Amino acid sequence: MENKKTFEQPGMYSDTVAELSKKLIEVNAKLKQTEYERTEMIENISHDLRAPLTAIRSTIDYYMDKSSEKYETFTSDEMNSMFRLLDGRVKTLEVLIQDLYLMTSIDSGREEFKFEEVPIFQFLEEYFFAIEIDKKYKDYKVSMDIPEDTMPIVKMDVAKISRVLDNLFTNARKYSEIGTKITLGAGIKEESVFFYVEDTGVGIPEEALPYVFDRTYRVSSARTPNNESSSGLGLSIAKSIINAHGGSIICQSKIGEGSRFTAFLPFK
Ligand code: ADP
Repeated sequence: MENKKTFEQPGMYSDTVAELSKKLIEVNAKLKQTEYERTEMIENISHDLRAPLTAIRSTIDYYMDKSSEKYETFTSDEMNSMFRLLDGRVKTLEVLIQDLYLMTSIDSGREEFKFEEVPIFQFLEEYFFAIEIDKKYKDYKVSMDIPEDTMPIVKMDVAKISRVLDNLFTNARKYSEIGTKITLGAGIKEESVFFYVEDTGVGIPEEALPYVFDRTYRVSSARTPNNESSSGLGLSIAKSIINAHGGSIICQSKIGEGSRFTAFLPFK
Protein backbone atom coordinates (compact mmCIF):
# COMPACT_ATOMS: atom_id res chain seq x y z
CA MET A 1 0.00 0.00 0.00
CA GLU A 2 1.17 3.50 -0.72
CA ASN A 3 2.59 5.39 2.28
CA LYS A 4 0.57 8.53 2.72
CA LYS A 5 2.50 11.52 4.04
CA THR A 6 0.54 14.04 6.01
CA PHE A 7 1.55 17.65 6.07
CA GLU A 8 1.89 19.13 9.53
CA GLN A 9 2.09 22.81 10.03
CA PRO A 10 4.92 23.91 12.35
CA GLY A 11 3.82 24.19 15.98
CA MET A 12 2.00 27.47 15.80
CA TYR A 13 -1.38 26.31 16.99
CA SER A 14 -1.24 27.45 20.57
CA ASP A 15 0.92 30.51 20.07
CA THR A 16 -0.89 33.58 19.00
CA VAL A 17 0.98 36.29 17.13
CA ALA A 18 1.02 38.35 20.32
CA GLU A 19 2.65 35.50 22.27
CA LEU A 20 5.24 34.98 19.56
CA SER A 21 6.17 38.63 19.40
CA LYS A 22 6.48 38.70 23.23
CA LYS A 23 8.87 35.74 23.00
CA LEU A 24 10.87 37.53 20.29
CA ILE A 25 11.18 40.62 22.47
CA GLU A 26 12.40 38.46 25.37
CA VAL A 27 14.99 36.68 23.19
CA ASN A 28 16.15 40.02 21.87
CA ALA A 29 16.55 41.44 25.39
CA LYS A 30 18.52 38.34 26.41
CA LEU A 31 20.83 38.72 23.41
CA LYS A 32 21.40 42.37 24.27
CA GLN A 33 22.23 41.44 27.88
CA THR A 34 24.72 38.76 26.71
CA GLU A 35 26.31 41.27 24.34
CA TYR A 36 26.52 43.84 27.17
CA GLU A 37 28.16 41.30 29.51
CA ARG A 38 30.65 40.30 26.80
CA THR A 39 31.63 43.92 26.13
CA GLU A 40 31.95 44.58 29.86
CA MET A 41 34.16 41.52 30.26
CA ILE A 42 36.44 42.61 27.39
CA GLU A 43 36.69 46.09 28.92
CA ASN A 44 37.58 44.69 32.35
CA ILE A 45 40.12 42.27 30.95
CA SER A 46 41.78 44.93 28.78
CA HIS A 47 42.05 47.07 31.89
CA ASP A 48 43.54 44.18 33.89
CA LEU A 49 46.07 43.41 31.15
CA ARG A 50 47.21 47.01 31.02
CA ALA A 51 48.39 47.30 34.65
CA PRO A 52 51.04 44.53 34.62
CA LEU A 53 52.08 45.46 31.08
CA THR A 54 52.71 49.06 32.16
CA ALA A 55 54.86 47.83 35.05
CA ILE A 56 56.84 45.53 32.73
CA ARG A 57 57.30 48.34 30.20
CA SER A 58 58.57 50.84 32.79
CA THR A 59 61.01 48.30 34.28
CA ILE A 60 62.44 47.59 30.81
CA ASP A 61 62.63 51.33 30.01
CA TYR A 62 64.43 52.00 33.28
CA TYR A 63 66.92 49.20 32.58
CA MET A 64 67.54 50.36 29.01
CA ASP A 65 67.92 54.04 29.97
CA LYS A 66 70.38 53.27 32.72
CA SER A 67 72.45 50.82 30.73
CA SER A 68 72.73 53.28 27.84
CA GLU A 69 74.63 55.64 30.16
CA LYS A 70 78.23 54.61 29.75
CA TYR A 71 79.43 54.10 33.33
CA GLU A 72 76.18 53.01 34.94
CA THR A 73 75.96 49.39 35.90
CA PHE A 74 73.48 47.49 38.01
CA THR A 75 74.30 45.84 41.32
CA SER A 76 73.14 42.26 41.67
CA ASP A 77 70.58 43.41 44.27
CA GLU A 78 69.09 45.83 41.76
CA MET A 79 69.01 43.14 39.11
CA ASN A 80 67.34 40.72 41.54
CA SER A 81 64.62 43.14 42.54
CA MET A 82 63.97 44.01 38.89
CA PHE A 83 63.60 40.35 37.97
CA ARG A 84 61.34 39.71 40.96
CA LEU A 85 59.10 42.54 39.84
CA LEU A 86 59.03 41.26 36.25
CA ASP A 87 58.38 37.72 37.48
CA GLY A 88 55.36 38.85 39.55
CA ARG A 89 53.82 40.85 36.71
CA VAL A 90 54.37 38.11 34.14
CA LYS A 91 52.70 35.62 36.52
CA THR A 92 49.68 37.91 36.74
CA LEU A 93 49.46 37.98 32.95
CA GLU A 94 49.85 34.21 32.73
CA VAL A 95 47.03 33.58 35.23
CA LEU A 96 44.73 35.99 33.45
CA ILE A 97 45.36 34.57 30.00
CA GLN A 98 45.11 30.93 31.13
CA ASP A 99 41.85 31.63 33.00
CA LEU A 100 40.41 33.51 30.06
CA TYR A 101 41.29 30.71 27.67
CA LEU A 102 39.81 28.03 29.93
CA MET A 103 36.61 29.99 30.53
CA THR A 104 35.92 30.72 26.88
CA SER A 105 36.70 27.19 25.79
CA ILE A 106 34.31 25.72 28.40
CA ASP A 107 31.55 28.18 27.52
CA SER A 108 31.86 27.55 23.79
CA GLY A 109 31.79 23.77 24.32
CA ARG A 110 35.27 23.33 22.83
CA GLU A 111 36.83 22.20 26.10
CA GLU A 112 36.93 18.41 26.34
CA PHE A 113 35.71 16.81 29.54
CA LYS A 114 37.01 13.36 30.46
CA PHE A 115 34.20 11.95 32.55
CA GLU A 116 34.92 8.88 34.64
CA GLU A 117 33.22 7.17 37.59
CA VAL A 118 34.98 8.31 40.73
CA PRO A 119 34.45 7.55 44.45
CA ILE A 120 34.24 11.26 45.19
CA PHE A 121 34.79 11.19 48.97
CA GLN A 122 38.02 9.26 48.48
CA PHE A 123 39.08 11.74 45.80
CA LEU A 124 38.32 14.66 48.17
CA GLU A 125 40.36 13.06 50.97
CA GLU A 126 43.33 12.65 48.63
CA TYR A 127 42.95 16.27 47.52
CA PHE A 128 42.91 17.32 51.17
CA PHE A 129 46.13 15.41 51.96
CA ALA A 130 47.86 17.28 49.12
CA ILE A 131 46.65 20.61 50.57
CA GLU A 132 47.89 19.61 54.04
CA ILE A 133 51.46 19.29 52.80
CA ASP A 134 51.32 22.25 50.41
CA LYS A 135 53.51 24.99 51.84
CA LYS A 136 51.06 27.70 50.72
CA TYR A 137 48.72 26.44 53.46
CA LYS A 138 51.29 25.81 56.19
CA ASP A 139 50.18 28.93 58.12
CA TYR A 140 46.48 27.99 58.05
CA LYS A 141 44.53 25.46 60.06
CA VAL A 142 43.22 23.17 57.34
CA SER A 143 40.63 20.63 58.37
CA MET A 144 38.45 17.99 56.76
CA ASP A 145 34.82 16.97 57.35
CA ILE A 146 34.10 14.12 54.92
CA PRO A 147 31.85 11.11 55.77
CA GLU A 148 33.75 7.84 56.01
CA ASP A 149 30.86 5.39 56.11
CA THR A 150 29.68 5.80 52.52
CA MET A 151 31.29 5.88 49.09
CA PRO A 152 29.11 7.60 46.48
CA ILE A 153 30.26 7.32 42.87
CA VAL A 154 30.10 10.43 40.71
CA LYS A 155 30.72 10.82 36.98
CA MET A 156 33.26 13.59 36.86
CA ASP A 157 36.35 14.99 35.20
CA VAL A 158 39.00 14.70 37.93
CA ALA A 159 41.26 17.45 36.57
CA LYS A 160 38.38 19.91 36.19
CA ILE A 161 36.93 19.26 39.66
CA SER A 162 40.46 19.65 41.04
CA ARG A 163 40.54 23.00 39.28
CA VAL A 164 37.31 24.03 41.05
CA LEU A 165 38.82 23.02 44.40
CA ASP A 166 42.05 24.89 43.57
CA ASN A 167 40.06 28.06 42.88
CA LEU A 168 37.99 27.73 46.06
CA PHE A 169 41.03 26.98 48.23
CA THR A 170 43.05 29.82 46.68
CA ASN A 171 40.22 32.24 47.47
CA ALA A 172 39.77 30.89 50.99
CA ARG A 173 43.46 31.59 51.63
CA LYS A 174 43.51 34.90 49.75
CA TYR A 175 40.60 36.38 51.64
CA SER A 176 41.50 35.12 55.13
CA GLU A 177 43.96 36.08 57.82
CA ILE A 178 46.98 33.87 58.39
CA GLY A 179 46.31 31.31 61.13
CA THR A 180 42.59 30.99 60.43
CA LYS A 181 40.68 27.80 59.67
CA ILE A 182 39.88 26.46 56.19
CA THR A 183 37.66 23.38 55.95
CA LEU A 184 36.99 20.96 53.11
CA GLY A 185 33.68 19.26 53.77
CA ALA A 186 31.33 16.92 51.92
CA GLY A 187 28.05 15.10 52.25
CA ILE A 188 24.98 13.73 50.48
CA LYS A 189 21.70 15.60 50.04
CA GLU A 190 18.82 13.96 48.19
CA GLU A 191 20.02 13.14 44.64
CA SER A 192 23.28 15.10 45.00
CA VAL A 193 26.69 14.76 46.49
CA PHE A 194 28.05 18.05 47.73
CA PHE A 195 31.42 19.36 48.74
CA TYR A 196 32.29 22.71 50.24
CA VAL A 197 35.26 24.91 51.09
CA GLU A 198 34.69 27.09 54.12
CA ASP A 199 36.83 29.86 55.54
CA THR A 200 36.63 32.26 58.47
CA GLY A 201 37.94 35.20 56.48
CA VAL A 202 36.73 38.66 55.46
CA GLY A 203 33.39 37.43 54.10
CA ILE A 204 31.31 38.93 51.30
CA PRO A 205 28.75 41.72 51.70
CA GLU A 206 25.17 40.57 51.15
CA GLU A 207 24.61 42.91 48.20
CA ALA A 208 27.64 41.41 46.38
CA LEU A 209 26.59 37.77 46.82
CA PRO A 210 24.44 37.53 43.65
CA TYR A 211 27.38 38.67 41.49
CA VAL A 212 30.39 36.72 42.78
CA PHE A 213 30.06 34.06 40.06
CA ASP A 214 29.85 36.67 37.28
CA ARG A 215 32.78 37.03 34.91
CA THR A 216 35.52 39.38 36.15
CA TYR A 217 33.39 40.48 39.15
CA ARG A 218 35.33 41.53 42.23
CA VAL A 219 33.84 42.82 45.43
CA SER A 220 36.70 45.32 45.53
CA SER A 221 40.21 45.11 44.14
CA ALA A 222 41.43 46.66 47.42
CA ARG A 223 40.54 43.38 49.17
CA THR A 224 42.96 41.33 47.06
CA PRO A 225 46.35 41.21 48.79
CA ASN A 226 49.13 42.83 46.72
CA ASN A 227 51.17 39.67 46.33
CA GLU A 228 48.19 37.72 44.94
CA SER A 229 47.03 37.70 41.37
CA SER A 230 43.34 38.06 40.73
CA SER A 231 41.64 37.58 37.40
CA GLY A 232 38.11 37.86 38.76
CA LEU A 233 37.40 34.73 36.68
CA GLY A 234 38.08 32.00 39.26
CA LEU A 235 34.49 31.59 40.49
CA SER A 236 33.05 31.98 37.01
CA ILE A 237 35.29 29.12 35.83
CA ALA A 238 34.25 27.04 38.86
CA LYS A 239 30.59 27.61 38.00
CA SER A 240 31.06 26.70 34.32
CA ILE A 241 32.83 23.46 35.29
CA ILE A 242 30.17 22.46 37.84
CA ASN A 243 27.38 23.31 35.36
CA ALA A 244 29.08 21.12 32.74
CA HIS A 245 28.73 18.26 35.27
CA GLY A 246 24.99 18.93 35.54
CA GLY A 247 25.50 20.41 39.02
CA SER A 248 25.27 23.77 40.74
CA ILE A 249 27.37 25.92 43.04
CA ILE A 250 26.29 28.38 45.71
CA CYS A 251 27.91 30.84 48.09
CA GLN A 252 26.92 31.59 51.67
CA SER A 253 28.81 34.32 53.44
CA LYS A 254 28.72 36.86 56.24
CA ILE A 255 30.92 39.90 56.22
CA GLY A 256 33.65 39.62 58.86
CA GLU A 257 32.73 35.98 59.65
CA GLY A 258 33.68 33.98 56.58
CA SER A 259 32.38 32.25 53.46
CA ARG A 260 31.29 28.81 52.38
CA PHE A 261 31.18 27.75 48.71
CA THR A 262 29.21 24.55 48.11
CA ALA A 263 29.14 22.56 44.85
CA PHE A 264 26.41 19.97 44.20
CA LEU A 265 26.97 17.10 41.75
CA PRO A 266 24.33 14.57 40.68
CA PHE A 267 25.08 10.91 41.48
CA LYS A 268 23.55 7.55 40.83
P1 ADP B 1 39.44 36.75 42.06
O1 ADP B 1 40.44 36.31 41.05
O2 ADP B 1 39.28 38.26 42.14
O3 ADP B 1 39.63 36.13 43.42
P2 ADP B 1 37.04 35.14 41.82
O4 ADP B 1 36.12 34.95 40.67
O5 ADP B 1 37.73 33.94 42.34
O6 ADP B 1 38.03 36.29 41.44
O7 ADP B 1 36.18 35.77 42.99
C1 ADP B 1 35.35 36.89 42.72
C2 ADP B 1 35.30 37.82 43.91
O8 ADP B 1 34.56 37.20 44.97
C3 ADP B 1 36.68 38.12 44.50
O9 ADP B 1 37.30 39.21 43.86
C4 ADP B 1 36.34 38.41 45.95
O10 ADP B 1 35.95 39.76 46.09
C5 ADP B 1 35.13 37.53 46.24
N1 ADP B 1 35.51 36.27 46.91
C6 ADP B 1 35.70 35.06 46.32
N2 ADP B 1 35.99 34.12 47.24
C7 ADP B 1 35.97 34.74 48.43
C8 ADP B 1 36.20 34.30 49.79
N3 ADP B 1 36.47 33.02 50.08
N4 ADP B 1 36.10 35.22 50.78
C9 ADP B 1 35.79 36.51 50.50
N5 ADP B 1 35.58 37.00 49.25
C10 ADP B 1 35.67 36.12 48.23
